Amino acid sequence: MAEVLVYVDHVDGAVRKPTLELLTLARRIGEPVAVHLGAGADAAAPVLAEYGAVKVLTADAPEFADYLVVPKVDALAAAYKAVSPAAVLVPSSAEGKEIAARLAVRIGSGIITDAVDLEAGDEGPVATQSVFAASYSTKSRVTTGTPVITVKPNSAAPEAAPAAGTVEQVAVTFGELSTGTKVVSRTPRESTGRPELTEAAIVVSGGRGVNGAENFPVIEALADSLGAAVGASRAAVDAGWYPHTNQVGQTGKSVSPQLYIAAGISGAIQHRAGMQTSKTIVAINKDAEAPIFELVDYGVVGDLFEVVPQLTDEVKSRKG
Ligand SMILES: Cc1cc2nc3c(=O)[nH]c(=O)nc-3n(C[C@H](O)[C@H](O)[C@H](O)COP(=O)(O)OP(=O)(O)OC[C@H]3O[C@@H](n4cnc5c(N)ncnc54)[C@H](O)[C@@H]3O)c2cc1C
Repeated sequence: MAEVLVYVDHVDGAVRKPTLELLTLARRIGEPVAVHLGAGADAAAPVLAEYGAVKVLTADAPEFADYLVVPKVDALAAAYKAVSPAAVLVPSSAEGKEIAARLAVRIGSGIITDAVDLEAGDEGPVATQSVFAASYSTKSRVTTGTPVITVKPNSAAPEAAPAAGTVEQVAVTFGELSTGTKVVSRTPRESTGRPELTEAAIVVSGGRGVNGAENFPVIEALADSLGAAVGASRAAVDAGWYPHTNQVGQTGKSVSPQLYIAAGISGAIQHRAGMQTSKTIVAINKDAEAPIFELVDYGVVGDLFEVVPQLTDEVKSRKG
């Protein structure tokens, strides 16, 4: 069976969920071979094996942390040469997309970014993308070279399928360009304790209807009861009620969770562009004519300050 390279997104060997999703999707088109760069391969390998990696190719060098993406591209290209895979899958983060694009140029391949699904096809893997503010789904296939495909978080439910996960070192020679951009400092973001917005299985977002920064704790309380991330409309972030990093939409983050709850958000096209591929959408809005109700699975017409706290209490009571 053909091998499929899966680029591992991790923090010091703690494998992030989008990589487990990629391993699950990779099994539809071949045998996953994980590529783990940087520290922590020993911790990562058993997890990667559990989710189907037949092999784990590893490389560690200071260059991966000290410089921007090019050393990682050098290493992924070395893994590509060692394996000659049928496809290369990379998580659709900003860094992942840059790595994938640079690799595709190097190996003369076509690239598909931001896929939301992947299936085997007679002439190679077929990727589904959600385009034009999620109003169309397209299916595409790379016709030149080995397909390089980036896949959005939450595109598949990770499924364990234990495999050998044999760890092998991959020899990497860094090119001249790899040390072109040095990382000069790092400041960790203050943790909210909530999941990362783009990877969260549940997102609760607030909009202009929240009516002030002082009211956002109502949204946060519901999010915390569900173990969710908090999002916001542009109207809410532009008003300074919530950080810009939490904006969902065309000019913010794109999310595709299992459950998206929009409170006090009208459903403008630019907001929909960032959340319309969510699996289940719930809206709470006091205006029954709000456009958001056109795309919801469940809608509550009501004042969010009455509905959201009741929902939070109900979730908490059901959790015991
Ligand atoms: C180039 C461009 C890019 C953009 N990018 C983005 C983007 O990335 N993300 C984004 O979100 N927007 C974006 N916008 C802005 C977008 O067009 C809308 O202006 C914005 O999404 C509106 O935010 P909102 O729904 O929170 O506010 P509004 O449209 O004002 O809606 C507020 C809603 O809250 C309801 N409401 C009020 N009070 C309550 C209450 N107490 N209980 C329940 N419901 C209540 C109202 O009925 C209303 O439907 C962009 C615009 C442009 C031009």
